[in-house]
This record gives sequence, structure tokens and C-alpha cells, in this order.
Amino acid sequence: MPHPLLDPRRLAMLHALGLEQAWVPRDALDPAELAALLPPLPGAAAAPTPQGRRAQVSDAPGATRGTPARDAPPAATERTERTERTERGHGAPVPPREAPAARATPAPVNEQRLQQVRSLAWEPLQAFTHDCRACKLGSMRHHAVFGVEHPQARVMVVGEAPGAEEDRIGEPFVGAAGKLLDNMLRACGLSRAGEDPVRTVYIANVIKCRPPGNRNPEPDEIEQCLPILQRQIELVRPRLLLALGRFAAQALTGSAEPIGRLRQRAWDWHGTPLVVSYHPAYLLRTPQDKAKAWADLCLAQDLLEGQGA
Ligand code: SF4
Repeated sequence: MPHPLLDPRRLAMLHALGLEQAWVPRDALDPAELAALLPPLPGAAAAPTPQGRRAQVSDAPGATRGTPARDAPPAATERTERTERTERGHGAPVPPREAPAARATPAPVNEQRLQQVRSLAWEPLQAFTHDCRACKLGSMRHHAVFGVEHPQARVMVVGEAPGAEEDRIGEPFVGAAGKLLDNMLRACGLSRAGEDPVRTVYIANVIKCRPPGNRNPEPDEIEQCLPILQRQIELVRPRLLLALGRFAAQALTGSAEPIGRLRQRAWDWHGTPLVVSYHPAYLLRTPQDKAKAWADLCLAQDLLEGQGA
């Protein structure tokens, strides 16, 4: 019977999140023994130090968020709007906004548009999204980022909005944040690629087009775009939703509370369990919160296992 802290699933998740050194039980195994238990990450010669991870982010091709100054964890007193904005996977910083955008009064969605979106099947919904100009972001994008991989996935991951690389490529969660998401999924036995709907996820964002200058999505943009995501969820019919980042969490829970108060709860999205956690881009900058993300993944795993999935 292994030490409870050496449960293989727990170890795999910690390893994927880069936390194993912080979680080694002092009285169980020495680090060399623990390292021998862990599966290697592809391309990783050794577990990096926190400093090493930051350097990798800065140097990664396509990484847009890795200057040393920005990688430093913000002081506790600075965990305000600017810090919450970094939970999204966008590029260069923008000046802090004066007030959170998520709960301002949005323009109402045209009822005809709502009915149209609700009637669309998968491929027409994709075409509708790529043609959409319902908000001002539609005229600024390179690509509308609809989503990737298995349309019958058991788990659906919902991010916030495309960043510069996502806009250029047309896929969600690319770059360093995407790699961390892949590692987090792998720790749960999931992947964004593959044929098996039980083992693959579907990944989409609340907002399909990139907000310019890395700014936060505005209320009218969320309001106009949210019906597309809702229709995607209806068509994928996942057994679990995982909302990453403040805007995804608030959009799906309907709450204006900060993400720290939304996580670690089993929400219900029209009958589908919903778990809220931090955006991988935020975790890259705030590695001390990876332990919280790990706890959120455990909650998600428990909910899935509770369904017999
Ligand atoms: S962000 Fe959404 S609502 Fe706005 S143009 Fe793009 S697809 Fe349409």
C-alpha cells in the first residue's frame, strides 16, 4: 500500500503541473526514488526549476508573454484587474482598465440570431462562426477560432478568447499556455488529439475572435458570442465542462464573483457538471497557484468518476 501522497494519479498530476518537488512527503521517499516513479514529459530531460520554467516560456517559439519582468509573481496587493487579465492566453500587456468589463450592461442579442444559432448543426455552426460579424471583433480578426478536436468528447474545456497566435493559426490554446494545458490534460488521462472520445477533449473559447491589443472581452462581445459556445456545448454534450479563467468561469456560472470564489465547487450547467479553474497562462505567471489548479483537476476527475465515466 503506497503512501497516500504517492498515489499514482496524484503523482502524475503533480508532475504535469511541475509541482512534484513541492509535494514530496518528507517521510516517504527521497527525491531520487520519487523521480524514478514519475513518467517523463516528452522532450523534458529533467524537471525544471521554477526559474527554468520561466526561461522556457520566455524562449519558446511563439511565446508572447514571457519577459522576465512580467513573469515575476505579482504582489498580493496587486492581484486586481491587471492580474486577473493575465489568466487569459493573450500576448502583450495593455494598460489596466478602470473597471471589470464582465458585468456591465451588454447589448441584447438579437432574438432572430439566437434562434438561428440554436437551430444549427455542427458544420453549419462552424460556417456561421467563420462568417460572423455580430460584434466589432469580427472585422479585426484573421481567423475566428471555433474549437478543436473531438465533437463527441467526454470533457469540454472552455477558455476565454484567442490570443495573437490563436488568431493567426485558428486554434485555441497554442504556445506555452497550450503546452501547459496539454500537460494538465495528460495528467487526467486526456488529450486534445485522438480518435477516442473518452480520451480526447473538445476545446473552445467563450469569444471566438481576438480582442485587439490583448484587452479583455467587452460585455457586448461576450453577449453576442456566448450563444455560439452554448450551441457547441449542446452539440458536444460533454459529461464535464472545465472553465479556465475568469471570463469563461463567469460566463458559464452566471456569477460575477472572482475566480477564487468560483473554483472548488461543482457547478451545474443545464445538467452538465462544471468545474472552474485558473487559465494556464495565469498559472505560468503564478506557479504557486498550480497546486490549486491541481485540486480543481482532482475535483473534475472525481465528478467524472462519480458518473462511472
Ligand atoms: S467574437 Fe463572436 S460574436 Fe463577435 S464576430 Fe467573432 S464570432 Fe461573431
